[in-house]
Amino acid sequence: MKPEVWHRSPGNRGSLVWFLANFLLVSRRSPEQRESIGPCSAIRCWCALLLLMIASSCHIMDPSASRDEPYTGIAYRFPYRVMHRIAGADGILWQLDPAGCPLDSEMAEGAIETAMQSWNLAGTCSFRRAEATEAATVTISWKDADHGRPCVRFGISSELVAHIATAPTSGDPTPFSIHLNASVDWTLEKVPVKMARSGTGLNVAMRFQPSLPAVIAHEAGHVLGLGHVLIEGSVMHPLHLEAAGSPGEPDLMAVRSLYGGGDTSSADDMEICCVDPQGKPHLAAPIIRGLTPCDRVRIHLFDIDSDGTDEIVLLGRGRASDGSGLLFLKFKAGALLERTIGPFPGALSGSLPLAVGKNGAGDTVLAQNPDDTKRSYLALVIPVGGPPLRPLLPGERWKSASGGGGDEDGDGTLDQPISGVAECGWADLDGDGVKELIRRGGERSPDR
Ligand SMILES: [Zn+2]
Ligand SMILES: [Zn+2]
Repeated sequence: MKPEVWHRSPGNRGSLVWFLANFLLVSRRSPEQRESIGPCSAIRCWCALLLLMIASSCHIMDPSASRDEPYTGIAYRFPYRVMHRIAGADGILWQLDPAGCPLDSEMAEGAIETAMQSWNLAGTCSFRRAEATEAATVTISWKDADHGRPCVRFGISSELVAHIATAPTSGDPTPFSIHLNASVDWTLEKVPVKMARSGTGLNVAMRFQPSLPAVIAHEAGHVLGLGHVLIEGSVMHPLHLEAAGSPGEPDLMAVRSLYGGGDTSSADDMEICCVDPQGKPHLAAPIIRGLTPCDRVRIHLFDIDSDGTDEIVLLGRGRASDGSGLLFLKFKAGALLERTIGPFPGALSGSLPLAVGKNGAGDTVLAQNPDDTKRSYLALVIPVGGPPLRPLLPGERWKSASGGGGDEDGDGTLDQPISGVAECGWADLDGDGVKELIRRGGERSPDR
């Protein structure tokens, strides 16, 4: 589901901390300990945070006590997130309602047009201004800070200079809208202009003039389906002062993964292939770019959210950081990328074998054994339908589907050693009953 309004706002570190803390607490207890601890969530929260602080200072959070190669650096930060795919990405029509423009109207219009065109990549995606007779997909308009219902008001915070909204919440006739806050002081420069602290009213709170071209490029990225990412050089950084002024390399990798185009694959890419009767693989969908450097990110294939079709499940090696960890990719008809879920940093180790199973409710259980001299384990539950993820509950039973493991009596010890699920191979990403071959890019030159 698409959110109806996306604000520019920081990431969700708070929930990450809470998740990690809970995960560590439950997973690292023996069954006896689990039972002896009461349900006082305040104490639990405290302990969890304490544990997390200790963990972050000595790295016990990374249970990669090296079954595999001992990569101990920061885990790979996935360079983009995908929220949706838009039909007809190459030639999206937009229209502008100049009413209420706080800048020179003609100059603002020119800046908006140039910024929309910054996404124009032949054969991948592009924006074009709609003629009067054409039905546009995107409306760009100026709104008061509290334009309220049916849309939502802008905040006073520095991030809330613009948002994207979808019909009917937007109040506009087009499927997508970019609402610009007419109450702030904009610049037509390509980057935001920092201002002295002196001033009155909103200028004090803002301390910079947002760049109209940079904000338009960011919001147009949302229209194309890109989510926020804390990556340098990306126009999709949630903080305006940190974001690139126009689409950067991470953003181009994202739109090419969604809509195609670009060169042959590199070692950081993934290919989704179909195989002809002679057994020869051919690219079946756009190359998924830049998510899977081979020494740093593992590629697994299984139905992680129990929706009946397989997902590509990526797991980074190394120490958890914002934007790294477990990421899964969902596809629609034609094995076309539709969205990414995650990443969930620190939830699992990219250096330990992974077992995949199901609990009684049909939720997916992912388990790892940080110390193969013992039969205790760490496990994570991905409920039917997807996040929020949660730790396995004390006493919760699960059956292995692949990669060994299982705990069918819920005693907190593994029924069999974890041998690990395979990397790459075959999966039915679009649920059409025909499996695709998923392999790393690079070496070979694919047939098209
Ligand atoms: Zn945004
Ligand atoms: Zn709005």
